[in-house]
Amino acid sequence: MSKKIFAANWKMHKTPQQAAEFAKNFLTKVKDDFFNHNEVMIFPQNFSLAAIATEFKNSKVQYGPQQIHTELKGAFTGENSLELAQAIGAQICLIGHSERRQFFHEDHTAINKKVKLCLEKNITPILCFGETLEDRQSNQTFDVCFKQLDEALTNIDTSKRLVLAYEPVWAIGTGQVATSDQVKEVHEKVFQKMQSSSFKNFQILYGGSVKADNAKELIGIPHVDGFLIGGASLEVDSFLRICYL
Ligand code: PEP
Repeated sequence: MSKKIFAANWKMHKTPQQAAEFAKNFLTKVKDDFFNHNEVMIFPQNFSLAAIATEFKNSKVQYGPQQIHTELKGAFTGENSLELAQAIGAQICLIGHSERRQFFHEDHTAINKKVKLCLEKNITPILCFGETLEDRQSNQTFDVCFKQLDEALTNIDTSKRLVLAYEPVWAIGTGQVATSDQVKEVHEKVFQKMQSSSFKNFQILYGGSVKADNAKELIGIPHVDGFLIGGASLEVDSFLRICYL
C-alpha cells in the first residue's frame, strides 16, 4: 500500500520568515515514524521556497513550486524555472491548479508540457483537475475531469510516478466540501481510467475545504490517497490534525 500524502498549498501567503517558522515548528512536532506511512509535501509561495528548502533540507518533507514555466530557462521575465527550483532541492511541483487555469488562462497544452518537463527532470508532478459547479449541475463532471486528464497526460511516460489531485472547483476555499459519495465516485472512476491507461505508479488526492473534522471520513474512501490542503495547511496545528487523523 502506498503512503498517504498530505500536501499543503500555501498560495500567496507566508513571508520567508513565516515559512521558516512553520517548518521549524512542524519538525519539532511531527514524529519520525510518521514518515514510514505518510508523505508530506509543501508548496510555498516562490519567494519562500528557499527558506523552506533550508529548513527541510535534512528532513523527509518534500517541497516545490506552485507553478513553473514550460521552458527551463531563457528570456521569460517574471517566470519560474523548474531547473532553478530543483537546484534548491525541489522534488515536487504543483501543476494545473484551478486558480492557474481560471485566473492565468493556463491551457491544456501548457499543462501537458509542464507534466512532461517534470517527469523528464525526475520531479513528481501533482496534477490538479476538477469540475466547476456549473459542470456538476449539468452532469458533466466526468466528461470534464476525464478531458482534463486526457489532455494533461497525452504522450506521458506511464512508468513514472504521478500524483493527481481531484479538486472540485466549487469546493476550493469555499468551506463546501464534496460529499463522501461524490468523492468516492470520482476517485473510483479516475483510478480505473488510470489503470486502464497503463499508469503504474499513481496516487489520487482529494482537495477542497479539507479540515480535520471532515478529513477522517474522506481518508477512509477507497482510492483517496491523501489530501491537497489550502487554508487548513497554513497553521502547523491544523495541518498536523489532518496528518494525524
Ligand atoms: C487548494 O488550494 O488547492 C485548496 C484545496 O484550498 P482549500 O483547502 O482552502 O479549499
